[in-house]
Amino acid sequence: MTDHNFDLVVLGGGSAGYSAAVRAIELGMTVALIEKDKLGGTCLHRGCVPTKALLHSAEVADVAREAAEYGVVASMTGIDMAKVNAYRDDIVAKKYKGLQGLLKARGITVVAGEGRLTSPSSVSVNGDNYVGKNVVLATGSYSKSLPGLTIEGRVITSEQALLLDYVPQSVAILGGGVIGCEFASVWRSFGSEVTIIEGLPHLVPNEEEVISKGLERAFRKRGIDYKIGVRFSGVTQNDQGVTISLENGETVSADLLLVAVGRGSNTAGMGFEEVGVTVDRGYVPTNERLQTNVPGVWAVGDIVPGLQLAHRGYQHGIFVAEEIAGLNPIVISDVNIPKVTYCEPEIMSVGLTEAKAVEKYGADQIAAFEYNLAGNAKSEIIGTPGLVKVVRVKEGPVVGVHAIGSRVGEFAGEAQLTVNWEAHPEDIAPLIHAHPTQNESMGEAFLYLAGKPLHTL
Ligand SMILES: Cc1cc2nc3c(=O)[nH]c(=O)nc-3n(C[C@H](O)[C@H](O)[C@H](O)COP(=O)(O)OP(=O)(O)OC[C@H]3O[C@@H](n4cnc5c(N)ncnc54)[C@H](O)[C@@H]3O)c2cc1C
Repeated sequence: MTDHNFDLVVLGGGSAGYSAAVRAIELGMTVALIEKDKLGGTCLHRGCVPTKALLHSAEVADVAREAAEYGVVASMTGIDMAKVNAYRDDIVAKKYKGLQGLLKARGITVVAGEGRLTSPSSVSVNGDNYVGKNVVLATGSYSKSLPGLTIEGRVITSEQALLLDYVPQSVAILGGGVIGCEFASVWRSFGSEVTIIEGLPHLVPNEEEVISKGLERAFRKRGIDYKIGVRFSGVTQNDQGVTISLENGETVSADLLLVAVGRGSNTAGMGFEEVGVTVDRGYVPTNERLQTNVPGVWAVGDIVPGLQLAHRGYQHGIFVAEEIAGLNPIVISDVNIPKVTYCEPEIMSVGLTEAKAVEKYGADQIAAFEYNLAGNAKSEIIGTPGLVKVVRVKEGPVVGVHAIGSRVGEFAGEAQLTVNWEAHPEDIAPLIHAHPTQNESMGEAFLYLAGKPLHTL
């Protein structure tokens, strides 16, 4: 067994792992990045990028279908799934090539193979030992199922859904969170009959209630069926399809069942616990500086309890490299990380909901304003209903921004700057937004909360 010595050894080359590697190299460290599959991980190969490509094809289908409303003569006669997949695969391939080139150009030593933590400072791969002054665990996540619900045949997860070479006539989706709603949106735009089953009282249950209700209205209008507040009890399948039973006695039949009940942390069998790293229900708990309980061993990305998002992984990776380098980076709490659900209509949120703000500051300290996109010219032009809701502390900063409507994911940039910089509406109100843009609607809400509404009463 040969020893290879580095300043930093990173186990897992997804969003979180490779960003730790890149930042560490920038800070003058030597870095080994160990990846058993493909650099870029879930986000690039099975998550963000391929799903957003499918959602773009879905948007094009909707635009073609609705073209006549805008005076354009076009027709939507079908989906060529082979071409959709080729377009998507081409995007992934280009980004993959770009990432490989980037890591090479930066001088990161990429080690192909399955790694196992063998001590707080070493990872073994293919019989060799990669020894680091610090080790970062970044092994990511996998699609979960429910006890007794086996993923096989017509019961699939997002991984198999991305590999389908046909548009199913009908799909049932277990889970009305981000992944479930995004696939529901794609398949509906492609012409499938879709039914979402969600045990909690609303779709996207982690969002502001007004946003969840807005999505439910929009999905109903699009013909996406959903059953909320009802629990799954079982599924049977045969050559024709699946039949799902619910605890309230109802059944749902479809060609496929997509199981989108969340993601588990990928930590089993990699030596973490043997080396003394605490693993709790599969996750690796850390302190707010992303240190595990074992000195010199850090954890980043989806294996750390909390939001499972690629940009949280980037932030974790950069943070840990800077922390090791002694730069004392600032902690960003999960609540202030922007979240986007890219279904149609899109959902964007960052910071506290009104209810959480009231819990934290008291009802008399909180003011909130909802601006309806009906008043926004650009939203009217592109034909989207929706709203933006801004929550502030009275005489204090904006602590939450929430939005629903086509393309509102683009609000995330300004919304997260506003919340993280703790801007007061009075600070932002004089900074006028370009007209006509959709993000003028955020500006209108800031103006209102600063006591000088422009297009609102
Ligand atoms: C369908 C879907 C859509 C998504 N859409 C979005 C989105 O739009 N926006 C967003 O922000 N997030 C999205 N996500 C979540 C995002 O993909 C994850 O949060 C992100 O990929 C987590 O990064 P990570 O580096 O922690 O883990 P991963 O990306 O899972 O990377 C972990 C890497 O570690 C490797 N690995 C594991 N064990 C070992 C080992 N023993 N040895 C060597 N290598 C190992 C794996 O092969 C993998 O490449 C989506 C996820 C899914 C499933």
